[in-house]
Amino acid sequence: MRPPIIRPETCRSCQPCRASEECDRQAFLREDAADKPWIDFYRCRGCMRCVAVCPNGAIEELVQPCTGGRRMGW
Ligand code: SF4
Ligand code: SF4
Repeated sequence: MRPPIIRPETCRSCQPCRASEECDRQAFLREDAADKPWIDFYRCRGCMRCVAVCPNGAIEELVQPCTGGRRMGW
């Protein structure tokens, strides 16, 4: 299973988060409604539906093993 990540520099903190609404595992978490969401890897099942619906292209599949060419952004 390869969970995606949300790139904080690209995420626009949409209200509501369309990608979150697409997730049937409630894997998107936000500490505060105005915060950028993050994905709980324990809940995520790696379906990638959220990647397809984020209007800003802020969610990417996590590449493993790390090649050094990408950074997680935090
Ligand atoms: S829809 Fe995409 S850009 Fe908007 S809050 Fe969700 S993850 Fe961030
Ligand atoms: S990959 Fe699927 S299960 Fe994981 S956060 Fe995205 S929509 Fe939810």
